[in-house]
Order: sequence, then C-alpha cells, then structure tokens
Amino acid sequence: RQSWASDSSDSVISSGSDSDGSLYKVILLGEHGVGKTSLARIFGGVEDFADAEEAGNTYDRSIIVDGEEASLVVFDIWEQDDSQWLQNHCMKMGDAYIIVYSVTDKVSFEKASELRIQLRRARQTEDIPIILVGNKSDLVRSREVSVDEGRACAVVFDCKFIETSAALHHNVQDLFEGIVRQIRLRKDSKED
Ligand code: GDP
Repeated sequence: RQSWASDSSDSVISSGSDSDGSLYKVILLGEHGVGKTSLARIFGGVEDFADAEEAGNTYDRSIIVDGEEASLVVFDIWEQDDSQWLQNHCMKMGDAYIIVYSVTDKVSFEKASELRIQLRRARQTEDIPIILVGNKSDLVRSREVSVDEGRACAVVFDCKFIETSAALHHNVQDLFEGIVRQIRLRKDSKED
C-alpha cells in the first residue's frame, strides 16, 4: 500500500504553462543506476528515445492534479558531473525533492539516508517536500529492501514514501502528483 491515496482518473497530463504562473523545481537525487533518468523520462513523456545514456537533463511539463494545473520542471542533473558546486546547488535550488533508491540495492537505500541528511543540513529551517522512492519494485526476486524498511525510513526522515516501477510505469504518475500535493500543502499553510 502506498502512503497516499490518489484518484488518477482526474489527472490529465498535458503540455502548457501553469494557471497561476508558478513553476516548481523538482530535483531527483539518488545513487547511480537507481532509475532517476527512467522516472524523469516517463514524466517528460520521452522515454522512448534511444539516447538514454546521456546524463543530465531537465523535463518540464504541466499536470493537472485535483483539478488544478501545476507546472513542474524535473531536474535529472545530480550525476551530471562530479562537481561539488553543482551538487551543492542542487541542494539549494529545489522546491521539492525526490530521493530515489533501488529496492534491489541496499547500498542505494543507505545512500538515500545520507542524501536526506545532506538535504536537511543544506535547508535547515525549511520544510521542503521530499518523497522517498523505492524504484524497481517489479524485480521481485532480487529485492533487498522491503516495503516496511522503506516506509520506516520515510517515517524517520519525515517524508512521504512510494514504491515505483519505471519499467512497468507503476506509480510513476502517482509520484509526480504526490509531489504537487506536497508542494501545495506547504504553500497553503504558509498563506494561512
Ligand atoms: P539513473 O542512473 O538513476 O538515472 O538510472 P537509470 O534510469 O539510467 O536506470 C538504470 C538502469 O535500471 C537502466 O538499465 C534502466 O532500464 C533500469 N531501470 C530503471 N528503472 C527500473 C525499474 O523500475 N525496473 C527495472 N527492472 N529496471 C529499471
């Protein structure tokens, strides 16, 4: 079971700009090979391109979540080069973060915790939306991280949790809708 309920029937994905003009920057973090590019490409609707090897890209798209349009720019640039500057910049620039690990790779799960800590250090006083993502849920037989471990980690880190399979497109739409909802929740509570 996932951490939030979603009615995807009302979610239409389209291109275009946001109704209230705001553009949310969403940064993908995570170890090499966990599926960041695959998730970003599904979001961007470009996963069929053969040149999947090139690193570092941004994908922008508007999606309708709960009847309202939101524009997201998804940055898949974490591994673009080894520059410390770029990684520091990533930690500062995001409106929201997707921390990805692979359920088939315990090391990537441990790395996700480190990233969460790094993020907390970079954005100490801010309550930034974060979703912890266990990707590759389709690889049942090589699973090294259970759903419960993932969920427990998200509780400790005070963030949302979802398992996805980029290969099967499972929960990928829910992931990006969840990010929009998390951003809105915080925005609304600030405006009150
Ligand atoms: P990145 O380095 O984090 O950007 O990871 P990629 O998106 O490049 O994916 C690394 C490899 O894992 C590629 O061969 C993908 O096809 C594969 N992969 C990504 N997501 C999934 C998934 O959900 N299931 C399976 N079985 N393979 C995946």
